[in-house]
Amino acid sequence: MDIASIVDDIAAEMKAAPHRGRVADYIPPLACVPIDRFGMAVIMADGTCHLGGDAEEPFSIQSISKVFSLTLALGAVGDALWQRVGREPSGSAFNSIIQLETEHGIPRNPFINAGAIVVADVLLGGNEPGSAIAGILRFVRTLAGDETISIDESVAEAEHRTGFRNFALASYMRSFGNLLHPVDQTLRVYFHQCALSMSCVQLALAGRYLMAEGRNPATGLSVVSPQRARRINALMMLCGHYDNSGEFAFRTGLPGKSGVGGGILAVAPGVASIAVWSPGLNEKGNSQLGALALERLAARTGWSVFQPAGPSTSSG
Ligand code: GLN
Repeated sequence: MDIASIVDDIAAEMKAAPHRGRVADYIPPLACVPIDRFGMAVIMADGTCHLGGDAEEPFSIQSISKVFSLTLALGAVGDALWQRVGREPSGSAFNSIIQLETEHGIPRNPFINAGAIVVADVLLGGNEPGSAIAGILRFVRTLAGDETISIDESVAEAEHRTGFRNFALASYMRSFGNLLHPVDQTLRVYFHQCALSMSCVQLALAGRYLMAEGRNPATGLSVVSPQRARRINALMMLCGHYDNSGEFAFRTGLPGKSGVGGGILAVAPGVASIAVWSPGLNEKGNSQLGALALERLAARTGWSVFQPAGPSTSSG
C-alpha cells in the first residue's frame, strides 16, 4: 500500500474541496485563520512520516489538548479521577450545562468542556496555575520530541475574556464541590491548554503513544500502560467529537479527538498516529474537511479498530 500517494491525493482533494464549513469566530485569533488551509500528517508505527498540504503550519489545538491533560491527570491521581468525571458519551454540545444539574456536577466525560475543566482542576493540585500550565507544555513537548511547541498567549487571553460559558460551567461544578480551586485559577489552566499551538506533524508525533500501546516508539519509554492507552482510545472513539461522535466513528472507525481550531488527532492502533487540520467546522463544531479526509484515509487504507490492519475489502 502506498501511503505517501494516498496522503498526497487526499491533501489535493481537500485543497480543492468546495464545502469547507465555517471557521470558529468566537475569538479574533481563530476567526482570522484562512479557510483554505488543509494539513495532514500520518506517522507510522515504524516512524515513517507522510505529510500533505499545510502539515507544518501551527494552529490552535483547542480541545485536542483534552487528550493530553487527561493522560496527565490519570498519571497524577489514577482511577480516582473517575469519581469526579464520567465515562459516557454526552450526546450534547461541547459546552452544554444541561446534564450537570441532574448529574450533581459530575461531567459525563473528560472531553466535554465541563469534564476537561475538572481535569484541569486535578492538574492544578494545589499549585499555582503557572506550574500546571508549564507541566502540560513540558509533557506535550516531550511526547512530540519538539521543544519549539508553544502556547499562544493571545488565544489564552481571548478565551479568558470571552469564556462566559466556561466560567458558568466551572462555577456550577464548584457549587457541587467538584472543583477544588477557585474558578479563575482552574480556568487559567484550561484556557492555556486550549491555546497550545501545534502543527499536524507535532500533533501526530505527540499522539504516537496512543497507537503504540502507551509507549513512545521513538524512545521506547512508557508514557502510560497499554491498558490505559486502550482506554483513552475508547474514550476518544465514544466522546471525542461530542454529539457528533457516533457519526465520526461510523465514518472512520477510528478513535479521534477534535478541536474547534479545526484539528483532529486520530489513532489507528498499532498502525499510525494521524493529525489533520482544516479550520472550517461543521454545525457540531468539528472540522468538516478533517473528518472527510480521515474518512477517505480509512477507506483507502482499510484502517479501522474494527478490522485488523490490511486492505479495505468492501464499502458501505
Ligand atoms: N476553548 C474552547 C472552549 O472552551 C474549546 C472548545 C473546543 O475545541 N471544542 O470553548
